[in-house]
Amino acid sequence: MSGVGKGITASSIGKILQSRGLVVTAIKIDPYINVDAGTMNPTEHGEVFVLADGYETDQDMGNYERFLNIKLTRENYMTTGSVYQRVIERERNLEYGGKCVEVVPHIPLEVIGRIKHAAKQAKADIAIVEIGGTIGEYQNILFLEAIRMLKFESPGDIATVIVSYVPTPSRVGEMKTKPTQHAVRTLNGTGIQPDIIIARADRPLDEKRKEKLAVFCGVHQEDVISAPDVDSIYDVPLNFEKDRLSEILMKKLGLKIKRAMVAGEWEKRVKRIKNAKETVKIGIVGKYFKTGDFVLSDAYISVIEAIKHAACATGRRAELTWIASTDFEEDPKLLRTLKKYDGILIPGGFGSRGIEGKIAVIRYCRENQIPYFGLCYGMQLAVIEYARHVVGLVGAHTTEVNQKSPYPVVDIMPEQKENLRKKDYGATMRLGEYPALVLPKTLAAKAYGTTKILERHRHRYEVNPEYVEQLKTAGLVFSATSPNGVLMEIAELPKSVHPFFLATQFHPEFQSSLLHPHPLFVAFLEACKKKK
Ligand code: GLN
Repeated sequence: MSGVGKGITASSIGKILQSRGLVVTAIKIDPYINVDAGTMNPTEHGEVFVLADGYETDQDMGNYERFLNIKLTRENYMTTGSVYQRVIERERNLEYGGKCVEVVPHIPLEVIGRIKHAAKQAKADIAIVEIGGTIGEYQNILFLEAIRMLKFESPGDIATVIVSYVPTPSRVGEMKTKPTQHAVRTLNGTGIQPDIIIARADRPLDEKRKEKLAVFCGVHQEDVISAPDVDSIYDVPLNFEKDRLSEILMKKLGLKIKRAMVAGEWEKRVKRIKNAKETVKIGIVGKYFKTGDFVLSDAYISVIEAIKHAACATGRRAELTWIASTDFEEDPKLLRTLKKYDGILIPGGFGSRGIEGKIAVIRYCRENQIPYFGLCYGMQLAVIEYARHVVGLVGAHTTEVNQKSPYPVVDIMPEQKENLRKKDYGATMRLGEYPALVLPKTLAAKAYGTTKILERHRHRYEVNPEYVEQLKTAGLVFSATSPNGVLMEIAELPKSVHPFFLATQFHPEFQSSLLHPHPLFVAFLEACKKKK
């Protein structure tokens, strides 16, 4: 079932096998027609995670990178759309030698080819393959078929894992295994018998429930792994090991156990997260939270994790509050409530909704010495705010929102204009990793401890070079630029005027992990910690 924690499960399985000394890679298969995740609304699908090579993927790819500390490539991600696209391309190129090209076997064969290719590319001992969606729906059936074929081809090399939810309905008061039994039956119908059942539940499974699942689903009792809710997702690998999952999996895959699990530093940090008593209050001002009556923060998952990594590094617990920027447009008096936070973060975004609210928030943070960290749109809007209220350019704006602005301080890059004209929106932003040079003696330089950085981008617009001098003269520091000096990558205010006012054109959150928290997030949290 989606949302039950397949991504964290897949990442955690990867982690425990990696901790045994194996080289692990991870592959995500998403069952939608979109060729990549770049064209999907974040409220519906969650965050778009950008890989170093610029591919726009699902947020689970972020989980894999964060857990495994590896860099994945476009080879590690596929969607129904991308698989069909490739098969059709091959057909057009006569690569099937005159054969009738059919959904089965050609689609599953393409999937198998890609899995093998990604594993080979990563020189991996183990490739974790996660199939998105839910057992029993039409959408992922061809991917399950690929796994069935793969297992038939080399049974000893494939272990299949089902992640299933085991509910305890409050009125019943007993944990129910029936939905999982049904899910396994449905999976059996595709020709796959699971080797392992990961039983997600709000509490640990008792032996009785494990026994039931074992009998009715045809797995050994020790292969039913209890996966209760945990406070921190980083606890999941450690929890799996309580049920000796790495050992079980390695045995099934015929792999010799060469070394004990090494999870020292990981375990230490998980403990630190749990033991942190003092909190630091961060307000995240955005717009992709609401879906019907529910508030979801999926759209900002990498930002949330990056804050947590940095909080852990600074020995605090981060308390996050979601603030809808539109609220400040309706009632500017609400700005005063921002004082209760130790820091405010504005993440990336698109379009015009809530923009004036965000600009008002940035102004309030700047004028009231509240630590501010802006990411991507959060940087462009900080530049607009500075242009309007410090430089005095009334009506300064981004051409994304107002094409007739008298002062287009944020504007589209020439090469993007052509894409927009053609309505060619997919994968046409400035995407992926780019180098930048950091200006010495700035907040950024102090945080990074180096002057050469590589960060990931996802945006169409840039600070307009025509206004850079004016902004600088008025006190805004561009503390990192593209190597040729044309593109502004970080804007900040000197420590003498503000405790922490820094914003990046790129997305630092994509490179943060528990073991390697991002230096800018750490610097932001240090500043928040000091706020009275
Ligand atoms: N909308 C802005 C742009 O396209 C910022 C994008 C973002 O925040 N990721 O440049």
